Amino acid sequence: MRVPYLDLRAVLAEFVPELDAAWERVRTGGRFILGPELEAFEAEFARFCGTEHCVGVASGFDAVRLLLAGVGIGAGDEVVVPAYTAVATWMAVTATGARPVGVDVEEESFNIDPDLVEAALGPRTKAIVAVHLFGRPAAVAALGGLAEQHGLVLLEDAAQAHGAEVGGRRVGSFGRGAAFSFYPTKNLGALGDGGAITTNDGGLAERVRLLRAYGWRQRSESEIAGLNSRLDELQAAFLHVRLARLEAHNDRRRQLAALYRDAFLEMPGVTPPDDGGSVWHVYPLRSADRDALQGRLDAAGIGTLVHYEPLPHLTAAYRAEGWRPGDFPVAESLAASEVSLPLHPALTEAQAAAVVAAVAGGASG
Ligand SMILES: *Cc1c(COP(=O)(O)O)cnc(C)c1O
Repeated sequence: MRVPYLDLRAVLAEFVPELDAAWERVRTGGRFILGPELEAFEAEFARFCGTEHCVGVASGFDAVRLLLAGVGIGAGDEVVVPAYTAVATWMAVTATGARPVGVDVEEESFNIDPDLVEAALGPRTKAIVAVHLFGRPAAVAALGGLAEQHGLVLLEDAAQAHGAEVGGRRVGSFGRGAAFSFYPTKNLGALGDGGAITTNDGGLAERVRLLRAYGWRQRSESEIAGLNSRLDELQAAFLHVRLARLEAHNDRRRQLAALYRDAFLEMPGVTPPDDGGSVWHVYPLRSADRDALQGRLDAAGIGTLVHYEPLPHLTAAYRAEGWRPGDFPVAESLAASEVSLPLHPALTEAQAAAVVAAVAGGASG
């Protein structure tokens, strides 16, 4: 059985009538930018995250960089980021003029290790960006304590973790502000690019709103120098449709992850991730012989990905800033052993069983 890594057409199938209706509504309404669909979605997503404000922007990358700019970060500043993350997290810091300072991660969670943060702080450090990698919440309590103790701002990159909870509270509500991506493959995905910032800080929401549209409160009156980064009406209307079933989809992801865990826990040669409150944007299986495993799965028709090689600090862009192999030993060893298995809301039990069988096939010879 062929199992693609992700099948967006299958995921979207259940939404087709509602997506068609959303397009019809926006088309006939004649408003395409900064209109009622965006306002409604912002209110709805803020409620979902348990925050007072939500500001839609053009992408997850823009959400991170406008969040950083919105709290005043810019040239000359340093921002602590996890070594293990999408390169977007590092580049959003770079885009503000600040310097990303990597910190190694915890082996169990792939998330930033709070015990290693203090060693990375210096006189220029202004903020810590907690990334909830693969859908699993970072150690927000410990990171919040560190931020408070050192007078830093805690921000969240929640691009992979829509709906994940810590102690009954949703991610996106722990830092001064949080960034979300609605890239089509994310747990809450648009049919194009999109992103949002959530916050309980009214001043921050206001600044980001100005930044996303030329610094305008009133058309043509630029109060500050901003840029153009808007979540359009059509994407907001699509996101409204998909948000209604995000919790059900996250539940399905949890079921599949539990199924995988039961299958892999006793299997030689592979290490499944433990739960940790993840909403399973990615299912990261580990194997000492990762490349061989990935090759075998490919030969069996099972689509996989590796998240992430190279890690941000080992890309040409950041080697040029002086980062080197060996800087983050835990992250580097995880990156060499990680393979992401198919896991999405439309994955069937039969497909999951085929994935398990293909992984087991090699383990037994
Ligand atoms: C996807 C992602 C982003 C960037 O989102 P885009 O919408 O693709 O710009 C940022 N951070 C993380 C952790 C991501 O996974």
